[in-house]
Amino acid sequence: MQTFHLSQPASLEAALAAARAHGTKFIAGGTDLMQLLKDNVEAPTGLVDLERVGLSSIHADASGLRLGAMARMSDVAAHPEVRSGWPVIAQALEASASPQVRNMGTIGGNLLQRTRCGYFRDTGFACNKREPGSGCPAIAGENRLMAILGGSDHCIATHASDLAVALTAMDATLELRGIDGERRVPLSEFYRLPGDTPHVETVLQPGEMIIGVLVPTSSMARASIYLKLRDRASFEFALVSVAVGLDLRDGVVQDARMAAGGVGTRPWRLPDVEAALRGKKPDDTVWRDASSLATAGAHPARQNGFKQILLQRAVHRALQTISA
Ligand code: SF4
Repeated sequence: MQTFHLSQPASLEAALAAARAHGTKFIAGGTDLMQLLKDNVEAPTGLVDLERVGLSSIHADASGLRLGAMARMSDVAAHPEVRSGWPVIAQALEASASPQVRNMGTIGGNLLQRTRCGYFRDTGFACNKREPGSGCPAIAGENRLMAILGGSDHCIATHASDLAVALTAMDATLELRGIDGERRVPLSEFYRLPGDTPHVETVLQPGEMIIGVLVPTSSMARASIYLKLRDRASFEFALVSVAVGLDLRDGVVQDARMAAGGVGTRPWRLPDVEAALRGKKPDDTVWRDASSLATAGAHPARQNGFKQILLQRAVHRALQTISA
């Protein structure tokens, strides 16, 4: 591991000032970054520890939910107002990692975790995301963890966060803060597609950080679920996951929100499925027809269609569950 300078500022302003030094990164819970440092995947010259800057509040009212970026995953998942008003968020968090990781991991850190692509995390291999222009050994291979949506000729790594999928479905907005001030960015515009610069993953500017997450209140948020399919029931990343919110009144789907994880290079909203559900009476034929639209735009050959089928079945199952 490369040596680095550690600063532990006691205020947000001091943290932002410390992060101006070239080669410096923020560290929150450290559950991902520490491993990347040990494996020499990341080698910052300085770390700014956010432990003492606050930002850990969880607040819900009639207009919505605000999560501080330093709120612990386990605290958010256990919060009674999150569980009643946005169950999809609590369920996505509880499906993430392990209890020990959730006790340390933060909301902001979870959204900024790096991909689990094995080539990215092993410096013995080339990887365009870790070392731009070096190549992508994943493209020619078959691996169930790779993306079928949003990939490019330079990278097909999936985004790993369950929470980001739930928040994408719920139309969340991020509060960002840099040395020049604060701005808000919809989560749907926060993650970049890999294109020919897969190492540039978000719209964050140098020295800028997530300070909070805003999630609107809605009837779809109150009636929402998170379904995650994976190889084992704990401490495993999604092969496919689905976040769904339905506004089902008077026997008709008034509105729907849906996003998928484990399939895209970023959390993947499913607008075609949402549109196909609006105004429909809930029955299994409607669910099945809408589910078939989940793979619109998916790479036709990747993984021999396995993940396309799994995504459609996951959407179908989630709709059956939420309407039962
Ligand atoms: Fe690297 Fe992306 Fe290729 Fe994985 S898929 S090896 S992260 S460039």
